[in-house]
Amino acid sequence: MIPLNIIVENELCTGCGVCVSECQSAKAKMSWSNTGFLTPSFEQEPSDKDKAAMLLVCPFNSSPAEEIEDEERIADIFLSEAPNYDGKVGRFYSSFVGYAKNFRNTSSSGGLATFIFQQLLEQKIVDHLFVVQEVAGTYQYQLISNEVDVSNFSKTRYIPVTMADLFLKINDLDGKVAVSGVACFIKAIRLKQHYNPDLREKIPFLVGIICGGLKSRFFTDFLVQKAGIYGDYSRQDYRIKDLSSTALDYSFGAFDQQGKHHTIKMKTVGDMWGTGLFKSHACDLCTDVLTELADISLGDAWLDGYREDGAGNSVIVTRSAVAEALIREGLQKELLHLDEVDHTLIVKSQQASYRHRQDGIAFRAKVFKRFGKRLPKLRLMKSKKISLSYAMVQLQRLVVRRNSLKFWEDSPSIIRFDKKMKPSLFVLKVLTKIHHKLK
Ligand SMILES: Cc1cc2nc3c(=O)[nH]c(=O)nc-3n(C[C@H](O)[C@H](O)[C@H](O)COP(=O)(O)OP(=O)(O)OC[C@H]3O[C@@H](n4cnc5c(N)ncnc54)[C@H](O)[C@@H]3O)c2cc1C
Repeated sequence: MIPLNIIVENELCTGCGVCVSECQSAKAKMSWSNTGFLTPSFEQEPSDKDKAAMLLVCPFNSSPAEEIEDEERIADIFLSEAPNYDGKVGRFYSSFVGYAKNFRNTSSSGGLATFIFQQLLEQKIVDHLFVVQEVAGTYQYQLISNEVDVSNFSKTRYIPVTMADLFLKINDLDGKVAVSGVACFIKAIRLKQHYNPDLREKIPFLVGIICGGLKSRFFTDFLVQKAGIYGDYSRQDYRIKDLSSTALDYSFGAFDQQGKHHTIKMKTVGDMWGTGLFKSHACDLCTDVLTELADISLGDAWLDGYREDGAGNSVIVTRSAVAEALIREGLQKELLHLDEVDHTLIVKSQQASYRHRQDGIAFRAKVFKRFGKRLPKLRLMKSKKISLSYAMVQLQRLVVRRNSLKFWEDSPSIIRFDKKMKPSLFVLKVLTKIHHKLK
């Protein structure tokens, strides 16, 4: 199979799979890469026409048309009715923090995603959902139709998944579809809708899952070993809540081949998010913290006054009239327990993500350019000039990210991996400490 060179070779693919449906000439499919990501591959070299079509729907295209060149322009097309705008939040109606009473305990955060999907089906706004669900012990996007127990597919899964199937099936599907996705997946759907306007009606609602970076499959393999499973595993749960503790104090769990359940507290395995371990390179070139192009954006309420509650709370940003109505109705019917908050509080809940992704983007872009890496069309935020100490932290995070993928690929065993990672993680820790001191 031949990879889609420009994007895949420059590690700019996050595996959304939307490009696969644009390739008529070469039987495209999504396959696992050596570093544990899903990327497109082809039985033969695609035609030039197909290559161009695939790039048009790629969220990491380096030369998109001007009218869709960044999140702001795309939001102008799809979310123009939203009355409010903020440079960090995007276009929006309202913002809230809280939970869905019926789904909180069985969900990752406050159960808002599950609530929204239930309402979309119940109110017949859509006929199908395209969401991530267990399939044979692992997780994949699945098309789900009416009359389902929506809590069967609650919880977010931090293993690579792809939407490739959706656009291969959608033309034969009767009815409308709602989709959940992280920012780059939602952007890819918007691009596909832009070039195929029929799909705007067919996919009338997008649930945005706020994302701090996509992880390689190695992340799951690593956690499984940390939990004490050294063979095949299944039905991993990335967010097991501890109702007697705080929201941050959650566990990872999975089943071994004998069906025994193993768990490990995430706080014992080290910082998995701030370090960049097992992260996709493309995520270091994404500035969309709050899934700005979805109808509704949902994340974790990492905020004082909420994070103390181990049952979990969601942050919510409504961006379309339908999303706004669903939330207001949920409040009226007392299905939701929410505080309406200023949008700056939502920004505060993702402070670390803004710092890394938006403040650091211009510096990282310069570094990648120097190393001859191709860049997507970047939205260079009004980025502050970063300090020397933060630049050092940024550089070391790139080293940690690259090392983690290489070392796990070379020797997928936690003992060898931890030993090999120790020096670069130590340097990152020291540089971060120095940076915080100087700040
Ligand atoms: C890779 C990743 C990184 C994240 N990083 C952050 C972060 O930095 N900050 C933050 O606040 N929140 C982050 N989240 C989101 C957070 O973990 C919660 O998922 C979110 O708050 C929704 O919780 P909920 O209780 O409303 O969802 P639930 O009610 O539990 O429902 C989750 C829904 O998401 C769908 N789903 C599951 N996995 C995926 C997936 N991989 N892609 C698309 N849809 C999926 C499920 O089918 C389900 O419908 C991240 C999630 C992922 C997958």
